[in-house]
Amino acid sequence: MSKENNSDKIAKVEVYYVSLEQNETYLGPVSGEENLKREEYFIRESNRTVYPKKNKSIVVRVLTENGIEGWGETYGLVAGDATVAIIKNLFADFIIGRNPLDVITIYEDLYDLMRVRAYHGGFYHDALAAVDIAIWDIYGKTVKQPLARLLGGIRRTKIPAYVSGLPKSTIEERCEIASNWQKKGFNAFKFALPMADQGGAEEMKQLRKTLGEEALIACDMHWARTRGEAVSLIQEMMPYRPWYIEAPIYNEDFNGLSWIAKKTNATIAVGEEWRTVYDAKLRIDLEACQIVQPEMGHTGITQFMRIANYAHAHNLLVMPHATIGSGIFLAASLQASAAVQNIAFHEFQHTIFPEFTSYNTGNITCESGFFSVPSGNGIGVEPTEEMKSKMTLL
Ligand code: MG
Repeated sequence: MSKENNSDKIAKVEVYYVSLEQNETYLGPVSGEENLKREEYFIRESNRTVYPKKNKSIVVRVLTENGIEGWGETYGLVAGDATVAIIKNLFADFIIGRNPLDVITIYEDLYDLMRVRAYHGGFYHDALAAVDIAIWDIYGKTVKQPLARLLGGIRRTKIPAYVSGLPKSTIEERCEIASNWQKKGFNAFKFALPMADQGGAEEMKQLRKTLGEEALIACDMHWARTRGEAVSLIQEMMPYRPWYIEAPIYNEDFNGLSWIAKKTNATIAVGEEWRTVYDAKLRIDLEACQIVQPEMGHTGITQFMRIANYAHAHNLLVMPHATIGSGIFLAASLQASAAVQNIAFHEFQHTIFPEFTSYNTGNITCESGFFSVPSGNGIGVEPTEEMKSKMTLL
């Protein structure tokens, strides 16, 4: 490393909204009069959750005095202005002038700023995640290495991918989507219980029949059930051998999750809403899950690695979550997944993936059941001209 790089400093922080197009509504078609009336959002009644009518993501560009550019991204789907304000009005002030090679120290300093007021997660940590990814990207570009190598080494260049979501109204159509992906070389799937109009057991049964005995079929229960309901539903699905059951219960009910894990023989997966290892600890210490699913858009790289390492220390698998974004945090997630030993699969959001590939220059592909890890230094992707045309500086 040159002396010049050693003394580089962060000079500028920019925040953008990126508008994301999507061929199909996330999870599938929506109805309801109330939803038509609302301008920006709709509510999916089956999981009582708000979603935006038009997807967007928050992208951060951090620039150093030596002209090295780092890209980060966080979740921007709902009330993203809150996250933007934290980055622009607070973090930028504390990042400018810092050495980007002190990335974990910078992360910890920003985290500490609001600890006493218990801002440990939510929008605060989403803002942190974007900045953390961008500074790690600068680190990689400074030392001219892919991020995976900085996180421990390139253990793999391909990551097994599972097909997530079957966004159609009828069970026949959903089986057809799964079957089409199977023909393309994928044999691991996850369906969303809110979309299973004939119930989870029937969905599992039909998918098992369509995809065969070897296929891995998981069910995402979307945190919408009480303890008793969750156990009954899981027991109904068990004869069709679910691969794992995701988010079976309200996410605040740690003891309930642990109770369900012990009451059923199902493999339980959770973690997409976690921000930090402290969120992981609350569940893992109660032996409430066997698979953890960190979402890079919420955790950033520093906490993603802490969660993965905590899972490793408890002999658990990691299967990173993939939320809706431009591809920047997906690239970071794939880089981290290339280094982490206990990674089994990475989620593949096939309905939004075409956008990722047209947006980013880093060759993220997902074919024949595998993601490729982007090559190049840092996270390995940068916005294309097409993506830049959809970015608004805030
Ligand atoms: Mg999920």
